[in-house]
Amino acid sequence: SLVSHSLSSISAITITSSSFSTGTSRNTSNTILDGLSGTVGRTPLIKLHKLSEETGCTIAVKAEYLNPGGSVKDRAALFLVKDAEERGLLKPGGTVVEGTAGNTGIGLAHICNSRGYKCVIFMPDTQSKEKIDALRVLGAEVFPVPAVPFDNPNNYNHQAKRYADGMDNAIWTNQFDNTANRRAHIETTGPEIWEQTNGAVSAVTFSTGTGGTLAGVGTYLKSKNNDIKVVLADPQGSVLYKWFTEGALERTDGSSITEGIGQGRLTDNLKGAPIDWSILVKDTELVKMTFRLLHEEGFFVGASSGLNVTAAVEVAKTLGSGHTVVTCLCDSGQRYYGRLYNKEWLKEKGLLEAIPEKYRSGLH
Ligand code: PMP
Repeated sequence: SLVSHSLSSISAITITSSSFSTGTSRNTSNTILDGLSGTVGRTPLIKLHKLSEETGCTIAVKAEYLNPGGSVKDRAALFLVKDAEERGLLKPGGTVVEGTAGNTGIGLAHICNSRGYKCVIFMPDTQSKEKIDALRVLGAEVFPVPAVPFDNPNNYNHQAKRYADGMDNAIWTNQFDNTANRRAHIETTGPEIWEQTNGAVSAVTFSTGTGGTLAGVGTYLKSKNNDIKVVLADPQGSVLYKWFTEGALERTDGSSITEGIGQGRLTDNLKGAPIDWSILVKDTELVKMTFRLLHEEGFFVGASSGLNVTAAVEVAKTLGSGHTVVTCLCDSGQRYYGRLYNKEWLKEKGLLEAIPEKYRSGLH
């Protein structure tokens, strides 16, 4: 259930604007966009009919899977690269090195190709094959490495840093602690949500990998209306829910099939985020919701989207009817054919039963 807490010894995020805002106009149909980078963001905000009806609220989702690299992380990838260019750290023909669960890497690979950089990706070997395949097709050099905690020097992030340090004209974009990531959401996602709802948004809820989306959107929306609730949605096994509700950096029970979200520490992007409530969402709940999104709303998305929408429904029920709750659909289901949308894999994880029986027939 929803838990609120007033824990915040960390100072609030201040908004400083950079010179490369993408603007918030959705006027994309009758204009020529400036290359691949010009297509990042300005995603539609879409009302979910059935879930809105059930809650008496408007549950609306930003369709982040429509970004050119297919996920919410394209926004961060673009800002990380542009920030490095602006600061003179990344020069023509240079190499971008990053540690990622995959989506940031795919975003970076697209942007690197379009701007003339090489891309090297370190990722934990626990992530879906589809994401690794996509990265390789895009021409990125991929190093899947054993999944070890952040305090282990062989964690994928530290390996990425070392690799970049040892190479000429290479940068480590450092999505977790480089706040150019969060700025992408302060300058684009947040303003888009504000404009698309005409300011009539009661709450937003986002799961957290780096925390960029939650902290950035939350910071921007609070600057427009401090009453807007900002809700952190967390999967099993992450530390953030307990950190927020109990003040302890301890894992919650279990582990999650979600990819790209859940965290073991407070990243610099998350520090100072104006969080009002936190929700812990179980895999059984989010898997059920992901299949409801597919069969009842028509959206074929990944597990973090199911988690986000589960949380949005809970927030809507807490607020009561008449409110607008916004979240995002982070990436596409196509990234998870071999897992979330595979019967044997779901069985192995004990999650097949979580899916309503009428929605299981197409699975193989
Ligand atoms: N969903 C998916 C599928 C992701 O890959 C990520 C980022 N790794 C997120 C959600 C969370 O985004 P953020 O890093 O902005 O917290």
